[in-house]
Amino acid sequence: MAQENMKDPFSIAQEQFLKAADKMNLKEETKEYLLEPKRIIQVRFPVRMDDGTVRIFKGFRVQHNDARGPSKGGIRFHPNVSLSEVKALATWMTWKCAVAGIPYGGGKGGVIVNPKELSQAELERLSRAYIKAIAKFIGPNVDVPAPDVYTNPQIMAWMLDEYEKMYGKHTPNLITGKPIEVGGSLGRGMATSRGGFYVIQEIEKALGKKLSTFAIQGVGNVGGGLAKLLFDAGYKVVAMSDSHGAIYNKEGLNVDSVLEHKQKTGKITDFEGADNITNEELLELDVDVLVPAALEGQIRKDNVDKVKADVIVELANGPTTPEADKVLYEKGKFLVPDILANSGGVTVSYLEWVQNNYNYYWSEEEVNKRLKDIITRAFKEVYDIHNKEKVDMRTAAYILAIGRVAKAQELRGYQ
Ligand code: GLU
Repeated sequence: MAQENMKDPFSIAQEQFLKAADKMNLKEETKEYLLEPKRIIQVRFPVRMDDGTVRIFKGFRVQHNDARGPSKGGIRFHPNVSLSEVKALATWMTWKCAVAGIPYGGGKGGVIVNPKELSQAELERLSRAYIKAIAKFIGPNVDVPAPDVYTNPQIMAWMLDEYEKMYGKHTPNLITGKPIEVGGSLGRGMATSRGGFYVIQEIEKALGKKLSTFAIQGVGNVGGGLAKLLFDAGYKVVAMSDSHGAIYNKEGLNVDSVLEHKQKTGKITDFEGADNITNEELLELDVDVLVPAALEGQIRKDNVDKVKADVIVELANGPTTPEADKVLYEKGKFLVPDILANSGGVTVSYLEWVQNNYNYYWSEEEVNKRLKDIITRAFKEVYDIHNKEKVDMRTAAYILAIGRVAKAQELRGYQ
């Protein structure tokens, strides 16, 4: 295995930060401060299983920075969650919120668990126990969680309910990505996908070409949602995947039927009207746009040379390693980084939080319009830096983000 594949996610996040920070005139203390998270919380908590036994779980909440506002970021339930991963994800949230220009810092939570092995009742008890364990360290103006990989609106509702029971009052602005009925925002469910869709439209304008064919890795809320938006708009989604494998049809997939098939059988593979391929093969398809929408570390030194797509849109967090980034840039590929491409989710989380603060709710059109304005402006700002500074889009996004966070941090001072 190539040496870089053994690099842990947080050292990748630090490397990306330093690459941009070294091109900027940052004060030494600012650079040093932003290189590590401000606060790391590790918790262990017991959960009673349906069979009466008790299992002890481990979870984290990391607050990387809060100079621009409360820490913000999702909670991930996954067997491979590690402190390094949560630190990386929290750091990326700081940059993401700054690129979007929304008034938040960055945070992230995670629990080491395979939620697919739990019953609904066990999942509920785990969700409640985790939020209880971190409750003292979060809050509407401190740190605002949300969904991430394998967590969803139902889980947010349980967490909100548990927190409200502890404090004896309604605080819908504690957590975002909630169901509409308990203070969620219209448009939040599709927000990351929709943001990615607006980004794709901006890429077409910036590069002056029509993008027609897409391969999407990951058919969760984000990847599946984007596939649907692209399909409805007449683009060709030729390949999609889940953790079991991938499917491919060069004429384009009927995304509605694929999602129905996944819903029915629990798998994307063996879909009539497409060939089964591997996840690796999906990454190597000759398409206009490759969209990693699953987990970290998918495009690496050992497979980057096989990537044929000219445009890569990172809807996952951290799907490309720094070594692979370098190769893609040298080959003239256009990669829109996670901290810009998938910022639609946290942007609508912000809009949800604003509505919670007002206790007044907007129409879906209103939410989508605000999302489009915010992400389009962010894309243009990053693209301008990419052109002016002659750096790749990731470094451009970092320059924009670090500049904003550093400014806020320095205005606060260090006393
Ligand atoms: N988990 C999502 C992300 O990685 C959304 C975070 C949020 O809405 O706070 O951006």
